[in-house]
Amino acid sequence: KAKADGKGGYATFTAELNVAAQRRVRLEESLRLTILRDELSLAVQSQFGPAGDIRGAEVLVRWLRGPEGVPVSPAEFIPVAEASGLIKPLTLTVFRQALEIAAQLKAAGLRIPLSINLSSDLFRDSALIDALVDLVADSVVTPDALMLEITESLFIDTHPDLLRNMARLAELGFAFSLDDFGTGYSNLAYLKRLHLSELKIDKSFVDGLPQDEDNRAIVLSIISIARQLRLRVVAEGVETSAQADFLVAHGCELLQGYLLHKPSPAEEWLGQLMDGIEKNCRKGVDH
Ligand code: C2E
Ligand code: MG
Ligand code: MG
Ligand code: MG
Repeated sequence: KAKADGKGGYATFTAELNVAAQRRVRLEESLRLTILRDELSLAVQSQFGPAGDIRGAEVLVRWLRGPEGVPVSPAEFIPVAEASGLIKPLTLTVFRQALEIAAQLKAAGLRIPLSINLSSDLFRDSALIDALVDLVADSVVTPDALMLEITESLFIDTHPDLLRNMARLAELGFAFSLDDFGTGYSNLAYLKRLHLSELKIDKSFVDGLPQDEDNRAIVLSIISIARQLRLRVVAEGVETSAQADFLVAHGCELLQGYLLHKPSPAEEWLGQLMDGIEKNCRKGVDH
């Protein structure tokens, strides 16, 4: 059809752009309603130490019924939320739900810090940071039960407000993890200035381990930098035992990935943890 109107590829290109733009508009409208109705939920993915012990968990937002009635990936709707300002109410929802999980962990006597993803632009928004601090203050949860993950891309632009807000949160006891490390533009001097506790090696570097020589060199360098700066290192996207073995052998402290655990709905994740405790208690009694 595009060719028939005499404009060839250009018309096709314009048509495709329109389809993409329409999808974004539809997603934005639908996401707005979904947040308003409080219908976003969380999945949780456990993080493990070298001995296979659970050391933490990352909460990941889930939109289970999008405009077509099927799930929409955060990879698609988070950028829409960021571009439209919906990222603020979305983050508040995620925080509220994460704090409920953290409160249940605390009540069960489990010390499993929850990692929460925060879009880097939000760090410039002092009002939103205040709201997050208030949510934590009003809960039974203390900041040390959380880990705030920021994506490295923010280092393209180190706004003074961002640095100030991060410093303020650090002062209150919040810890930070630099997500997708190695994919952005941060220089090593920034790493030191930012009160980080943790670096997360991006999945794209973990993918080729241990065969890929470049990825091997990159991962070893990241682990070495982290060690020099006394930061903990987490590998994300661990899918094979060969990857896990390599990472553990070279001093990576935490592993996260489908090999060990796939993200599961928050209630299910909590339920399994609680069942585990109960079984252990019973073992003790039966004995
Ligand atoms: P991320 O923070 O780097 O999270 C890791 C992503 O990798 C998650 O995708 C997770 O499900 C997936 N993953 C974990 N292990 C494996 C593995 O072994 N193999 C593969 N192929 N994938 C694995 P998800 O849940 O689709 O989230 C995508 C991104 O969306 C996240 O990347 C994060 O940047 C963003 N995101 C998710 N939840 C939130 C949120 O609450 N707030 C914000 N601002 N961003 C979020
Ligand atoms: Mg993350
Ligand atoms: Mg990541
Ligand atoms: Mg990632």
